[in-house]
Amino acid sequence: MVYTSLTSPENQDYRYDLHIAHLYGNLMNTYGDNGNILMLKYVAEKLDARVAVDIVSLEDDFDKDYYDIAFFGGGQDYEQTIVARDLPAKKEALGNFIQEDKVVLAICGGFQLLGQYYIEASGRRIEGLGLMGHYTLNQSKNRYIGDIKIHNEEFNETYYGFENHQGRTFLSSDEKPLGKVVYGNGNNQEDGCEGVHYKNVFGSYFHGPILSRNANLAYRLVTTALRHKYGADLELPSYDAILAQEVPEEYGDVKSKAEFGK
Ligand code: GLN
Repeated sequence: MVYTSLTSPENQDYRYDLHIAHLYGNLMNTYGDNGNILMLKYVAEKLDARVAVDIVSLEDDFDKDYYDIAFFGGGQDYEQTIVARDLPAKKEALGNFIQEDKVVLAICGGFQLLGQYYIEASGRRIEGLGLMGHYTLNQSKNRYIGDIKIHNEEFNETYYGFENHQGRTFLSSDEKPLGKVVYGNGNNQEDGCEGVHYKNVFGSYFHGPILSRNANLAYRLVTTALRHKYGADLELPSYDAILAQEVPEEYGDVKSKAEFGK
């Protein structure tokens, strides 16, 4: 299913092309996660790339050679059970896509389903794709809801978001977190980790949507995809040249719940 409204204008010349697959976009689309697609398009066009976006959903083929970026958004437990039944048919193609270092952004339910399994709120186990080592346990009568801030040491970048999930995710030894929690709950409230970074897969519990609140991460994803496609030494305008001036210095730094009212 093509998102015609999200395709770059035909009458404009672009130097590059990027093809984005919105995995199960008609089922997994909670909390404005679709805004991530708008942000990918916004940044891509600033980098002179034409964008085409398709929903790749139940019974559709996922063409790992055609797509440059896959986005897998969040969803309720009910939708996750439906999607989980279709995942085995896409496992090989998505596994190769990941192993070939292509870019994936997975949010919340999508992040959970890339891993081994997810125990939903009712206690029922949903099998994940099993392409990454993390697994997700449930919690009884509780959700992690609220503002969250994390820091990624490798990139020296800070990311802001809003989390809303019952699942508690634990990473495997070959997975790094997207960041260490500054405030908020993160993957499980125990190990200080939030999200995942594995090859060029970026997973997170951040809604908001994550990319519109974190233009630095959007820039990282789009430039990684362009360099993967057009060569590692592709010269592109810097983040400072195209985006930094649009983001106020204090942007996103809302106070943690504990600080409110002081
Ligand atoms: N249903 C999952 C959970 O509650 C994912 C939620 C989401 O994607 N926002 O943990």
